[in-house]
Amino acid sequence: MTIRVTLQMNGKCTRREYKTHARAMNGLKRWFSGNKGLALVYQPGQQPVVYQSVHDLPIHQVANETDFYRTQEWRSLRVDVLAESGRRCLLCGNSPDNGITLHVDHIKPRSLFPELALEKSNLQVLCEDCNLGKMTSELSF
Ligand SMILES: [Zn+2]
Repeated sequence: MTIRVTLQMNGKCTRREYKTHARAMNGLKRWFSGNKGLALVYQPGQQPVVYQSVHDLPIHQVANETDFYRTQEWRSLRVDVLAESGRRCLLCGNSPDNGITLHVDHIKPRSLFPELALEKSNLQVLCEDCNLGKMTSELSF
């Protein structure tokens, strides 16, 4: 996939290409930090999107979604929560000894409560099945 970006400043156009949308957004963030102008972003098969400042960029969602689970804060919190759970699923009591995978789940989802993302009281340990069951029951509402 190629993301084409046209940067317009003082009547001059510059064109750039990026391999991913996230890289394009990061490139635009840097560009807007030193320039005032317009950025037009063309993604294959989609309408072009115009950005006028760094505040227009959907950069926070992009960065949070891809990077959150790689942060040191999350990793060490996750280890703590797993240790305190006794390495068992809160709902069914299964442990990795039974061949299941444990997930550290956000009780209130990060998409709606980003401020609780690193709040220990908002975390619970679920096995894969129970975690998927939770998502399914949320979807059916
Ligand atoms: Zn379970």
